[in-house]
Amino acid sequence: MPCYLCGARQSDPVRGAAPFKRGVRRDRQVLICPNCQIAHDWKADLDRCGRCRSTFLLCRLGEIECYSCGEVRPQNFRPPVPDTPGLDPALTNEVEQALSRVLSGLSGPDASRAHR
Ligand SMILES: [Zn+2]
Ligand SMILES: [Zn+2]
Repeated sequence: MPCYLCGARQSDPVRGAAPFKRGVRRDRQVLICPNCQIAHDWKADLDRCGRCRSTFLLCRLGEIECYSCGEVRPQNFRPPVPDTPGLDPALTNEVEQALSRVLSGLSGPDASRAHR
């Protein structure tokens, strides 16, 4: 995962140095590179624990956990739903057309002929 501010990727041969900081922003896990930690008030942008105001949060599947006090809250972030305008109406139309075909077939020419 790259730095969320500048997109720099963590080069990880130097194990243990861990120059990137982790955080949660808008309920999403983010990383902040060392440059941006200096250039930017990065903690101001991060989500904070509702109990202890710590930015040291862990984003898990559907949950945000605070490292400092252990508070767990549900993750509010939902991935944006792809915009598919007209999908449902089109489907409904198709169903309606199929239905009307079936219905017109049932009470179709045969039915009207029987009446005459
Ligand atoms: Zn950066
Ligand atoms: Zn906390």
